Amino acid sequence: MNEQNVLAKKLPSAEQVMELIPKGVSVDALREKGFIPIEILGDKMVIAVSNAASALDAQIFATGAGKTAVVVIHPEREVAAVIRDLYDLKSGVADETLSAIESVDDLSQLARQEVMSDTVDAPVIKLVNGILLEAIKERATDIHLEPFEDGIVVRYRIDGVLHNRYELTKGHQSPVTSRIKVMAKMDIAERFIPQDGRIGISLGDRAVDIRVSSLPTQHGERIVMRILDKARGLLTLEDLGMAGEEKAKLDALIRNPHGMILLTGPTGSGKSTSLYAILQALARPEVNVITVEDPIEYDLPGVGQVHVNEKAGVTFASALRSILRQDPDIIMIGEMRDFETAHIGIQSSLTGHLVLSTLHTNDSVSAVSRLVDMGIEPYLIAGSLLGVVAQRLVRRVCPKCGEAMEAPAAMKKYGVERVYRGRGCAECGGSGYRGRFGLYEQFDVSPELADAISSGVPISELKALAAQNGMRTLLQIGVESVSSGKTTPEEMLRVVGEA
Ligand SMILES: [Zn+2]
Repeated sequence: MNEQNVLAKKLPSAEQVMELIPKGVSVDALREKGFIPIEILGDKMVIAVSNAASALDAQIFATGAGKTAVVVIHPEREVAAVIRDLYDLKSGVADETLSAIESVDDLSQLARQEVMSDTVDAPVIKLVNGILLEAIKERATDIHLEPFEDGIVVRYRIDGVLHNRYELTKGHQSPVTSRIKVMAKMDIAERFIPQDGRIGISLGDRAVDIRVSSLPTQHGERIVMRILDKARGLLTLEDLGMAGEEKAKLDALIRNPHGMILLTGPTGSGKSTSLYAILQALARPEVNVITVEDPIEYDLPGVGQVHVNEKAGVTFASALRSILRQDPDIIMIGEMRDFETAHIGIQSSLTGHLVLSTLHTNDSVSAVSRLVDMGIEPYLIAGSLLGVVAQRLVRRVCPKCGEAMEAPAAMKKYGVERVYRGRGCAECGGSGYRGRFGLYEQFDVSPELADAISSGVPISELKALAAQNGMRTLLQIGVESVSSGKTTPEEMLRVVGEA
């Protein structure tokens, strides 16, 4: 432990302490543990504790903020006084949030919606609006309302990482959940089966679509809201920020008149953003582009988009069969989840269509074994697959507070001497990161690799062949982005994993 008892000096003001509290941390949590952060010194966070028993919690708190703790003991009443002031500051902030909401026309319109439950009152409407508006302001992609024994935790996913934002009491649970379900046109009387719905709101000329899903748990309904901010979406291939070599390879890949191109990566790795960017590059008046998606995240001008609706019997496979009768040149299939969808996709790519789709695999080459596992014959894969792009989104070092430092041993072994990290500032909510960018690994299926796929060679051998053909792995590209200061070693390894 890095515990040190430094001669106690005067504690900073609540305003100064507030600056040091990472966004996701509530004052309640600090009060419970009886400590406050008081100073940042390089990679160290000085934390005042009122009793030695809090030292371990303080260590954990500092680690969460990416710092090492230096613990100093202060009299309990002094620490408590700062925490009281923090509450006063926080309630001021909450009032500001509420008045900001009231000043936004569209949201006050939304607040006028009739509520079909007498348990829901005006403060609850304001509270729910505040939760939504804050999330949009903070660029969150998801809002989680997670019930537990004594209340609900509200969490925002920002730049791919979940942060605790608010804790609501148990008394809030039923009205808040009902309010959201009403807004999402879900059945509020039904609390024991999972449901889904959507909320459409507009902020000025910005349309925001929110997908809502509920799941019954032992402590009540868990609500997850996915925010699809149409103004923020739609990036071009240039916006994706691909490394030069991979960008040139992708440009060449998508110019093929027929065949299949796959994007792989875990959920939230930005596959659909890339698919949309590719479709925008390909959509021209003289080609017929049709997509089948679940959900349709952005409206693409000049593209026919079909929404999968399994309840109404529109599955990926059934939609695809209809699409093929619409004389398409380019087909985008949101995801290949089953044999039938994959099979129709491959057949289409073999009969003169360019087919784009996604698969859940970790790296690009493994897409081949996934298709084989789904029941597709290797010779069909060899004949149709043009290439696979594996991608990940990593958080970018905050441009405001990033600074260079010596590389840790884990990076030196890759020849990286200097790395960059954000200290944490107001701009990045103390996280040291702001925004994300993509890492792209591109596996091109050359005639030699097609032969290898057709003869069913093991994946390890395919990977070695791909490397010989010049494929750079996610790890190689990740190390390059660490070396150029775009992201940190920890973030890159968290997302890419050690190969
Ligand atoms: Zn910063």
